[in-house]
Formats: sequence, C-alpha cells, structure tokens
Amino acid sequence: MEHYVVLPDGTQVPALGQGTWFLGEQKADELREQEALTAGISAGMTLIDTAEMYGSGKAELLIGKTIREMDRSDLFLVSKVYPHNAGRKNIFKSCMASLERMGTDYLDLYLLHWRGGIPLEETVACMEQLKKEGKIRRWGVSNFDTEDMEELWSVPGGKNCAVNQVLYHVASRGIEYDLLPWLRRHQIPLMAYCPLAQGGDLRRGLYESSVLKKVAKAHRASISQILLAFAIRDGSTIAIPRSGKKEHTLDNAGADRIVLSQEELEWIDQEFPAPSHKVYLNIV
Ligand code: NAP
Repeated sequence: MEHYVVLPDGTQVPALGQGTWFLGEQKADELREQEALTAGISAGMTLIDTAEMYGSGKAELLIGKTIREMDRSDLFLVSKVYPHNAGRKNIFKSCMASLERMGTDYLDLYLLHWRGGIPLEETVACMEQLKKEGKIRRWGVSNFDTEDMEELWSVPGGKNCAVNQVLYHVASRGIEYDLLPWLRRHQIPLMAYCPLAQGGDLRRGLYESSVLKKVAKAHRASISQILLAFAIRDGSTIAIPRSGKKEHTLDNAGADRIVLSQEELEWIDQEFPAPSHKVYLNIV
C-alpha cells in the first residue's frame, strides 16, 4: 500500500483496511468471505475492523478462521466493545472472548463502539488496564462527536485515545465542519466507516452520480475506488470498506493508486458540498 496513516504512537497502518459487519453470518457464504478477506490482506489491506456485536461474534470467528495460518505481526486487528460491556464488570471478559474468537492473544486496537451509560473515566481506566496486561496495544472510540471528544480529553488518560471511528463518505460530510478539524488539531486519525455509503444504499443515486462517473473515467477507476480515494485523501483517515466478494475487495484495494486532483475535488465539492454549519454525527 502506498497510502499509510500514522497513529499517535508513531505506528503506521494502511489507509485502506477491511470492515466485517455482516460477514460470517451465513455458513454458505463463509468460504467466499474468507477468500475475500484473504485477497484483501494479500493486497495490503491488513487492517481488519470488527466488533463483538457483528453477528454476535460470528464476524470475529470468521476472521479467526481466515488468519489462522498467517503471521499475526503482519495484521492490525481492531475490535469493539459494546457500551454496556465497557466497564469493570464486563470489559475484561468481552475482550478475552473477542481474542478467543479470533485466535489471537492481543488486539492492535480496541474501540468503545459508541457512548453508553458507563462513565468514560471507568472505560478509559479499563482500557489502560487491558493495555498493561498486553491484551490490547492501544484503544480508541467510535461514534464520538466533538463534545464527546472534549469530554474524553478531560478524563484521566483520555488523551491516550488512538482513533475515532465515525461514519464518513462523500455524501455524508457533516464531520468536516467541526469534528474533523478537532481531530486534526489533536492529531487523532479518523477511521471512516461506511466509506462506500454501504454500496450506495445510504445515498440513493450515489453510484450514478455524473461527477463521480467523470472522475472515475479519468482514472480508469470504479466509483467505489473514487469514494475510497476521496475518504483517505487527507493522509490521516483510514477507510474500512467491507466486501464479501474477492473482486470487490481487490477493486477496493486498487483505490490505493488514485490521488484526486484539486480540480476533481472541486467538482466533488460542488456536487457533494461540505457543510457550512454544525451537523450532528450520522450513525448507522
Ligand atoms: P461500506 O463498506 O460502505 O459498504 C459495504 C457494501 O458495499 C456491501 O454491500 C458490499 O457488498 C458493497 N461493496 C464493497 N465493495 C464494493 C465494490 N468495490 N463495488 C461495489 N460494491 C461494493 O459499509 P459498511 O460495511 O457498513 O461499513 C464498513 C465497515 O465499517 C463495516 O463493515 C464495519 O467494520 C465498520 N462499521 C462501523 C460502525 C460503527 O458504529 N463503528 C458502523 C458501521 C460500520 P459486497 O459484499 O457484495 O461487495
């Protein structure tokens, strides 16, 4: 991969990773999905995003089966804890269960999936404990808006947060108004989920956009590749497209070669403008 993002501790990760929501849920699709993940890893998308929530552990089990024979140190595994499990009572069990399902003894990154009722102080203290125990290398958050980040920054240890994972794609740019500048100022990378707007399902007509088609044609690329090149264009965003199909996964990996020109970005801005006022976080 040409495009990398540097985490706050200096670790480099590929700017294109792989999501796994809905993978591993149907036995009949398992081999195809394993093939897709493997092809993505071989193409350099070695960062894999999952969660205890996905298929109630089935996505993590699928990852476990897929990476069994691989060198663990070549991979960057990300999982997420449910908000209701993100406290002293359950987080240690949750983390162990994720590790067991994936057949590994550490996570590269562990995220709080979204904010719940457990105080941030408690979650942060538990994350730091997991780090000390070697169960996770670093932790971060997901679905945190600017004021959640501010609050996190006021909590002891909160500044050790490594990323914020939120919804971001060309037709959902609300975070560019204040959250993204906040993250830049604090040098916290963004992890963009739904970078393909769920294959266009989140924005009707996205894949038919004449502007995206024109840009895709100029780069001999697919619309998905343009969406991904857009998402990672600033050098501090990691996009995690999901596919259960090898052809699509390889298509996504191919976005790595694309750099959008200033003119193309201006066309995209006209068609899909960034907001000029605060927009609350889009969540799926
Ligand atoms: P996405 O990656 O934007 O889109 C996935 C959809 O796009 C699938 O239907 C897939 O179908 C299709 N697709 C993938 N590559 C394609 C290609 N090259 N051409 C055409 N279609 C393509 O949506 P997502 O899965 O919701 O988001 C990505 C990941 O982010 C998730 O898997 C998950 O790991 C993470 N996520 C996190 C949160 C959170 O709250 N933190 C929320 C949502 C998602 P095929 O399988 O047929 O290719």
